[in-house]
Amino acid sequence: MRPEILFSLFKPVTSLKGVGPRIGKLIEKLAGLHLVNLLWHLPSGLIDRRYAPKIAEAETGAIATITVRVLQHRKPPNKRLPYKIICADDTGEMSLVFFHAHEDYLTKSLPEGELRVVSGQIDRFGQEIQMSHPDHIGSLDELEKMKTVEPVYPLTTGLTLKVLGRAIAGALQAAPDLPEWADAGFVAKHEWLPWKQALLAAHAPESEMALGPEASARMRLAYDELFANQVALALIRRHMREARGRPIQGTGALRARISHTLPFELTNAQRQALEEIAADLTSKKRMLRLLQGDVGSGKTIVALMAMLIAVEAGAQAVLMAPTEILARQHLATIEPLAKAAGLRIVVLTGRERGKSRTAILDALSSGAAQLAVGTHALFQDDVDYKNLAVAVIDEQHRFGVHQRLTLASKGHAVDVLVMTATPIPRTLMLTAYGDMDVSRLMEKPPGRQPIDTRAVRLERLNEVTAAIGRAIQDANKVYWVCPLVEESDTLDVAAVEQRHAHLQQLFGDRVGVVHGKMSGTAKDKVMAAFSGKDLDILVATTVIEVGVDVPNATVMVVEHAERFGLAQLHQLRGRIGRGDKPSTCLLLYASPPTETARARLKTMCETDDGFVIAEKDLELRGAGELLGTRQSGMPDFLLADLQNHAELFVAARDDAALLLDRDPELESERGQAVRNLLYLFERDAAVRYLRSG
Ligand code: ADP
Ligand code: MG
Repeated sequence: MRPEILFSLFKPVTSLKGVGPRIGKLIEKLAGLHLVNLLWHLPSGLIDRRYAPKIAEAETGAIATITVRVLQHRKPPNKRLPYKIICADDTGEMSLVFFHAHEDYLTKSLPEGELRVVSGQIDRFGQEIQMSHPDHIGSLDELEKMKTVEPVYPLTTGLTLKVLGRAIAGALQAAPDLPEWADAGFVAKHEWLPWKQALLAAHAPESEMALGPEASARMRLAYDELFANQVALALIRRHMREARGRPIQGTGALRARISHTLPFELTNAQRQALEEIAADLTSKKRMLRLLQGDVGSGKTIVALMAMLIAVEAGAQAVLMAPTEILARQHLATIEPLAKAAGLRIVVLTGRERGKSRTAILDALSSGAAQLAVGTHALFQDDVDYKNLAVAVIDEQHRFGVHQRLTLASKGHAVDVLVMTATPIPRTLMLTAYGDMDVSRLMEKPPGRQPIDTRAVRLERLNEVTAAIGRAIQDANKVYWVCPLVEESDTLDVAAVEQRHAHLQQLFGDRVGVVHGKMSGTAKDKVMAAFSGKDLDILVATTVIEVGVDVPNATVMVVEHAERFGLAQLHQLRGRIGRGDKPSTCLLLYASPPTETARARLKTMCETDDGFVIAEKDLELRGAGELLGTRQSGMPDFLLADLQNHAELFVAARDDAALLLDRDPELESERGQAVRNLLYLFERDAAVRYLRSG
């Protein structure tokens, strides 16, 4: 239960004065539903109103706060001309200029003969000094209040700075003083303010420096966020570990049988990873292991072998993929092997319904099926397993900590292997996974041909299509990827369909199309035709980004490659170069590309090393996006960023470990304060793992 002291912060933003349903919606979109979300919406700029010159001295272009006497209202002869109000001080005159003026309002707020304070930008027209639409108009006693530095916030259409600023001020007012949760020595060493004061300071920047990530108040808040995250991860991990695993000892029989049917030998890296997994399974502790390997490094077979260990021991194993396509793809790879070993494997996704779903559920609850492949449908409430021991999660960076959590809370004390193709740098690893054990597949299967990657201007489309014509003559298969159009699924589809039509004109019915809006069966059919004999060219959105395996596909065209992130391009390129023929990747870009886009394309042409690419990516766009923001398993950090706060990550992790060591159930005074912190950052799920959560 959320502590009472935080109740005020978890009220909806519409509880604020001046925030109705319409504004509420905008704020929700921008920051979030609750007051607490507004606290984390930090200023991106500032307006300094402390400059208070006399009229004659006021610098053109500057923001100035000036005390004036109102002399005369000059109504315009017609509506197109501005309403002017002439004011003066002892150095000269200034006109306040209003277009589309509300006369009532102006006569009330700027009565002739009175002294007023106005604040806004100074303009000059010839000799005339002007201020158009002052930002603030007030009486003399409001001068000091007006002569301050105003924070400027990131906005969204329809929401003005004034309205948002007021809402944020309201949220800040609702923020309670909270007892210190960070280590006192650490706070003292950094000379940090207590949380509430740091929060207020972060919202009241006095200089540009105060807006930077290294400003003391911002560092403190970033640390709080990271610390909350690390404590939460540590609790989750502890819980998963504690849920007793049982020792699983395979006979080796199934693995041996499958090894014989494979057309290749396992690489040393694969063998090594399997040994590590087998050791985890034999131990009583629960397995929580990350299998990290670049695209094409051969993770699937490792996963299958791991699953077979469970089956050898008389238990069941599942493989969960992030998308329907991927689940079917895994099925296609694994099913023949499983069948050859005499095993029954079922598939369970959102598409299985009615009778067929019932039959699948029966097979799982009776144990008739030893293996299952699917999407998160595998873990819906009504799915029971006879004896589930191993779950492999093919994450491909699309699942988050949350899915892993659900899996754990299902009460299946299963051993978990997470597969990821993202070469996650160490700092990121900490934040996304806590300190999971890691097996790496650094070595690729032998015989892979290097991929020739080139950046090509979109204007040269005709040459590209000609080259493709030659490639399919030689029995090659071609992927043609069109970019996601931001926030518009319909536009996406239009783009792929247009390209599909264009390529069909050139190459006839050898061209297929697949995108997110198609039904599952329709997608399957196209994918099957492409991996089989019926299609040579597949036009697609990024639905093919991950995992799809068509070994004789050797050409990858990415249209508007400048719109893709490095990680995505690397994933896409990983779809080719899987067989023994040389492959080509053509990155079509609209010119001129931005500098970052150019750097990305250059990196892609220079290297195919996933780690190098990930490092470069981190450098180019910061960590938040590294794993692909939208579907990433990375917690979205609001206040912390990996580039500027790297050392805070490590400190937060160490402090979290130390704290939980001393006070495992967060019962001490500081422990209670940390509970507040966890709720403040909405890590409620983690608190549930405490004895008196
Ligand atoms: P990823 O790590 O991207 O999931 P996959 O598991 O899909 O990679 O493997 C990529 C391709 O490499 C598949 O066609 C697979 O059959 C093949 N492969 C896997 N291991 C080996 C190996 N040891 N030797 C040769 N080919 C292999
Ligand atoms: Mg894969």
